[in-house]
Amino acid sequence: MPPISVLIKPSSGMCNMTCDYCFYCDETQKRAQESYGFMSETTLKNVIRKTMLRAEGTASYTFQGGEPTLRGLDFFEKVLSYQKQYNKNKIQVYNSLQTNGLLIDEAWCRFLRENHFLTGISLDGIQKTHDACRHSRKDNTPTFDRICRSIALLETHHVDFNILTVVNQTVAQNIQEIYAFYRQKKWNYQQYIACLDPFHEPHGQNSYSIHPENYGQFLTELFHLWYKDWKKNRQPYIRQFENYIGILLGHFPESCDQRGTCSIQYVVEADGSVYPCDFYMMDEYCLGNFNENRLEEIDAKRREIAFLKRSLLLDPSCKLCTYYPLCKGGCQRNRDWNPEIEAYQNYFCQSYRMFFDACLDGLMEVANSLSHAPHKFCEFQNIPQDLL
Ligand code: SF4
Ligand code: SF4
Ligand code: SF4
Repeated sequence: MPPISVLIKPSSGMCNMTCDYCFYCDETQKRAQESYGFMSETTLKNVIRKTMLRAEGTASYTFQGGEPTLRGLDFFEKVLSYQKQYNKNKIQVYNSLQTNGLLIDEAWCRFLRENHFLTGISLDGIQKTHDACRHSRKDNTPTFDRICRSIALLETHHVDFNILTVVNQTVAQNIQEIYAFYRQKKWNYQQYIACLDPFHEPHGQNSYSIHPENYGQFLTELFHLWYKDWKKNRQPYIRQFENYIGILLGHFPESCDQRGTCSIQYVVEADGSVYPCDFYMMDEYCLGNFNENRLEEIDAKRREIAFLKRSLLLDPSCKLCTYYPLCKGGCQRNRDWNPEIEAYQNYFCQSYRMFFDACLDGLMEVANSLSHAPHKFCEFQNIPQDLL
């Protein structure tokens, strides 16, 4: 078993915020049981025991939600104690937390810093773009000021953090101001993800929906801002761009949605049930339960539902596309089944084409500046056959 990647939802889909576009709320509403409550210590122990005893080299645990901090700090202390107890193979363990930031206080900051949790905090840009969609659940009030205070606290305590921004229509339209704001704040680790439309529903029906043309324009504008800063040697880390540059240099992308095929993950709900990806946590994708099944049984179910294999059924025109070695057809969650060609086509294809048309030269210039060898393209990811 290679390095293992586990994503845990200690508070199921429960959250102290309500965001108009929350993809996890959409998923939970599409399954028989919406919430599984809080994860018990027994379930946590089973997840950590089974994964750590199987992992080789490294194991990464990401805690996400809903809002994972609702489960309380004592739960996370238990995480560390189980990781210590079951690290029989002396593997390297990485922990990260993805939070909306509302509950971050001094105690959380001390814990995250002392235990080297890489922290992702969700912020959708400037006040008007953030508050347009992200509200407090208690009283539906805006949350921007409170999250900025939490980020300041993380900085005071020297917690390593990155900003996660969901690219909806409003964010896309205001990227110049957002980029300037992040730069002024020196928030130099950034990740942008395209806002998802509800599962199995037509695209573009909601006020927050991002349309392919706007997304393409967003990526292009963001790259040009980033490139100008790169010229001055002061560019922030933007995950998607770093991965493209890495691919040009022949590296394997660390971001799963840029690999061309789905990756092997264990995404665990609060009751121990396990799913292949955060975007597919619905009953029909359940692979088993950490309280009842062995890892082999969970992997066998992954093969049975052909989750990884499905991401190979990509539009044949992708393979002929000039940009395929870099784009690889994008994330499976953004691909729609086309029965006429019996393959999946990416909803954001137009966006990627617009972006690469405008920015490929810049990407290659950056890649070539990092290596004197001519750039080369990474091969299609090889998934071990026994996992397909
Ligand atoms: S903070 Fe995250 S989990 Fe909570 S409602 Fe917003 S998007 Fe959903
Ligand atoms: S659906 Fe996207 S994020 Fe999920 S495993 Fe596949 S490529 Fe990765
Ligand atoms: S740009 Fe479009 S056609 Fe080309 S690889 Fe990407 S998704 Fe496929």
